Amino acid sequence: MKIELLGSGGATLTPRPFSTSRVSVEAREKGAPYSRMGPAYFVHDAALLIDTPEEIGPMLTWAGIQRVEAAVYSHWHPDHTSGLRVFEANYTFWDWPPHPMPTRVYLPPQVAADCRQWLGLEKRLAYLESRNVIQITRLANDEAFQVGSIQVQPLLLAVGYVYAFLIQDDATKVLIIPDETFGWHPPDDLPALDVVIMPAGLFAFDPFNGERLIPAAHPVLQSEATFRQTLQMVAALPAKEVILSHLEEPNGLSYDDYLRLAEQLAGTHPDLPPITFAYDHQIIDTP
Ligand SMILES: [Zn+2]
Repeated sequence: MKIELLGSGGATLTPRPFSTSRVSVEAREKGAPYSRMGPAYFVHDAALLIDTPEEIGPMLTWAGIQRVEAAVYSHWHPDHTSGLRVFEANYTFWDWPPHPMPTRVYLPPQVAADCRQWLGLEKRLAYLESRNVIQITRLANDEAFQVGSIQVQPLLLAVGYVYAFLIQDDATKVLIIPDETFGWHPPDDLPALDVVIMPAGLFAFDPFNGERLIPAAHPVLQSEATFRQTLQMVAALPAKEVILSHLEEPNGLSYDDYLRLAEQLAGTHPDLPPITFAYDHQIIDTP
């Protein structure tokens, strides 16, 4: 299975607009892999796209992707949905006679419910469907779907409105958790996983010198998982390999820092599966 990590950033991109931080300045100078676009994943075997951050159009173009057969949304947050207009590119006014090739868009039940409430998403999706550039399928609870040789099983996370996706074919099982692992504990019935891609969490402490970076009373710690909590989740995952993504610019860590941190973790946490940090357009190719 070939999966492309189209964007390794989170709700904040690197470089972040308006920011003069060290990592933003470096990313502006050097570009990828120091820069990070929003969170999205592409399963090449099935031309399946997971989530559409605002920048998804250029991200797909740079990846050389010419067709999205199917797409699925993990949750309604703007960093995962704002680019849904990309599907308009399935069709242009100039095509005549029309030969529409809509992308099948799958909505897990809580995502469909939230789309009614937030950001006008249901109306925007209905507009795209009326233009015949997408076809929406609303999934039932625990309903999986198939795209080509790939089966996708949405799994609701502890926060109650965000889904992870267990993606499998005959040879490989990959778990992609796009965001929001707060309060999550890996369920006991997860199968053995070749790769897990999940958010790194917020760095409440500097991972190199232990200094506290986010005050203990900061409300964000009541709703966002931290990096230390992420390591506890990794310890409970039946995974051969873990890739941490959704890397936020305010973490203050550069591409080089994440390489160094991965090396450090191999020494300090030999009990955990190998952990690395994602970068844009990283290809995960499993046998
Ligand atoms: Zn996000």
